[in-house]
Amino acid sequence: MTGTLYLVPTPIGNLGDISPRSAETLQKVDFIAAEDTRVTLKVLNHLGLRKPLASYHRHSGERSAAAIVERLLAGESCALVTDAGTPAISDPGEELVRLCVERGILVESLPGPCALIVALTLSGLPTVRFTFEGFLPTNKKNRRAQLAQLKNEVRTMIFYEAPHKLTDTLNDLRAAFGADRRIALCRELTKLHEEVRRTTLGEAVADYTEGDLEPRGEYVLVVEGACPQTEDSPTVEDGACRVEELQKDGMSLRDAIKQAAKELELSKNELYHFMLDLGRNS
Ligand code: SAM
Repeated sequence: MTGTLYLVPTPIGNLGDISPRSAETLQKVDFIAAEDTRVTLKVLNHLGLRKPLASYHRHSGERSAAAIVERLLAGESCALVTDAGTPAISDPGEELVRLCVERGILVESLPGPCALIVALTLSGLPTVRFTFEGFLPTNKKNRRAQLAQLKNEVRTMIFYEAPHKLTDTLNDLRAAFGADRRIALCRELTKLHEEVRRTTLGEAVADYTEGDLEPRGEYVLVVEGACPQTEDSPTVEDGACRVEELQKDGMSLRDAIKQAAKELELSKNELYHFMLDLGRNS
């Protein structure tokens, strides 16, 4: 019988976030495939575990993936862990999962820490619909092309970013979406110096270029979606955008809903409940 590949999430900063089920799984498997064995040893030491480790990272190539697959086919069980968070989310796990699925190997994914979810839930931006964009391309042309595709994206957008590229990325985001678009810069999540800066793209650029802020640590950028553009009759989403505009001009939520509903010929009641659902009035 073939073995199972377990995707085991590890803490993104706080070692206390490893779940009992993840610890049990690390203990019971025959071996652990690790993105960086030194990082994984810290987690294993914290749990008081010792296990055979195999290296599996972006540069270890097809050979190490094939070796892991062969061991699984021979009946061994394997836990895949990456440096932080959930394997296969913006890290090399994706490829190993694909190979296992192709070869009919059972894959189990354990729920646990994932930076994008922590950031989204902290952002204060709508969580009802969102799109995860991972890392933007490093090539300037490709990254601007990708941002151009997102110009009319109405869902909240989530990006991963490294500190040395933060300022360039903020500049590109401002150029693509405008200075008024809201952003939550979430850094060092679950760590001692966790910080969430809720601001606009214009202010974020100013803070990091003209101000005294220096990019430090790991970032997740959560960016507000565009107001929906439609040539058909206005929708309740259009109403919500108008309410936000009126609120920004200083109107109370109640008055803004009343006025937006009147302007767009929407039901006041429906708009009110939609705003509640979106949590936009908090
Ligand atoms: N698989 C991971 C997950 O589940 O989130 C993501 C791995 S990806 C290679 C690493 C990126 O995740 C970092 O560059 C950063 O954007 C984000 N990240 C990871 N840990 C973070 C933290 N503690 N605070 C903020 N961002 C973090």
